[in-house]
Amino acid sequence: MSNAWRDRLLALREELEGIADTGDEASAVVELDQTKVGRLSRMDAMQAQAMAQASGQRRERMLRGIDAALKRLDEGDFGYCQECGEDINPKRLEFDPTALLCIDCASKAEENATGEIRPKENRP
Ligand SMILES: [Zn+2]
Repeated sequence: MSNAWRDRLLALREELEGIADTGDEASAVVELDQTKVGRLSRMDAMQAQAMAQASGQRRERMLRGIDAALKRLDEGDFGYCQECGEDINPKRLEFDPTALLCIDCASKAEENATGEIRPKENRP
């Protein structure tokens, strides 16, 4: 069973690294264009670059999650909730093999996270 997860995680990582290459090309193009385009398209370019950066950060987080999951496979901790130690539902792992928490702990963590983000959004 653990070998199947390893294959799955390695395939996922390869896929993400493939996307990373094209992402670098896209941001390089934006940089070149900035000197000769007008204000509006420059804003478009900056927006595209910001989006590329955001997806790059998301990708990096996922890559770190995949590496952590592979490490947990080695240590025999894979598939157990990091918070409460219960088995993580296999369906949940099927959806996201890098999941660290069972569904109960994950939804609690999510509640905490949104509680932290809201005050920032309300700032003037
Ligand atoms: Zn849990």
